[in-house]
Amino acid sequence: MKITFFNIKPILFLLLIGFCLILHSCHSEPDKIQKEIEPPQSTKEWINPPLFDSDSAYKFIKKQVDFGPRKPKSIAHKNCGDWIINKMTSFGFLITEQTGKVTAFDGSKLPLRNIICRLNPNKKNRILLCAHWDTRPFADRDSINQNEPIIGANDGASGVGVLMEIARVLNNENYLSGVDVIFFDVEDYGAPNMNSTFFDVQSMNDTWCLGSQFWARNLSAEYIRPKYGILVDMVGAENAEFPKEGISMEYAGYYQSKLWNIAEKIGYGNYFKKKIAPPITDDHTYINQMTNIPTLDIIHYSVRPSSGRFDFGKFHHTHADNMKIIHKPTLKAVGETILSFIYNI
Ligand SMILES: [Zn+2]
Repeated sequence: MKITFFNIKPILFLLLIGFCLILHSCHSEPDKIQKEIEPPQSTKEWINPPLFDSDSAYKFIKKQVDFGPRKPKSIAHKNCGDWIINKMTSFGFLITEQTGKVTAFDGSKLPLRNIICRLNPNKKNRILLCAHWDTRPFADRDSINQNEPIIGANDGASGVGVLMEIARVLNNENYLSGVDVIFFDVEDYGAPNMNSTFFDVQSMNDTWCLGSQFWARNLSAEYIRPKYGILVDMVGAENAEFPKEGISMEYAGYYQSKLWNIAEKIGYGNYFKKKIAPPITDDHTYINQMTNIPTLDIIHYSVRPSSGRFDFGKFHHTHADNMKIIHKPTLKAVGETILSFIYNI
């Protein structure tokens, strides 16, 4: 997932900033991330949300992992997609499969299968919940077996598992508003780190998130736009840290502040940190830039003590991203926070 300017060596970073200033085309706009919006304190009475079952979310994650790496064009990918569709159908959602072809960083054509699930499909008042369901076809941040696909328990399966559990709960509770749950395909097929050079870092950014880019580009005029969106990505590791990320703040700052305040109120401020993180490329980047749906990203991203720089967890794009790192208390923190937000926003 996601190249950022902050993953590259400091000297290259400085050179790159200079380069971007010359071109006036730099994707990262650090000054914009300062405008944090504090919403007024809500006077509405607190509504207790329905219970989120972290055992259930964990099982949904394990099931995906048991299929094997869900890299595009693999049997595991197809079987897992079929299973997600069956499960979401059983939770009362109406499913539309969006298929197409996208071009990968290396020029190869990849089939695409976005899974679009709608609860109460005719309701005008809607919300969007999304995650990517494909997994990275290589382990470019590992020291061994870099050309083997990762199993993606956290990077892929955790977001899907948490949203499936939320979907199950909302259906059980006869939630009355409309809910769009979208599982994006081909998020994690971006150009490998080991091939990155100074000049291609910027141009390679758009090689990520091909499923959400395809979806945003092909939205029909009749599509009922949700009032806000929540993206979850890597939401299952022990001691995960979710900062207030820059693109989310720029486009969905109001909702981001609300959600982080709610997390703190219900006792999850140790996961939902109020520190501000630089903008990253993830599915929400394209949703925000290409549609009018303000969408925030809940993503494991924090300062690594070893480097002093923002980075994803140590498991990121390595073979350590397996079931061993999935921690039910983290799933519970994320699930309860999102449900509390939905019921109290
Ligand atoms: Zn990834």
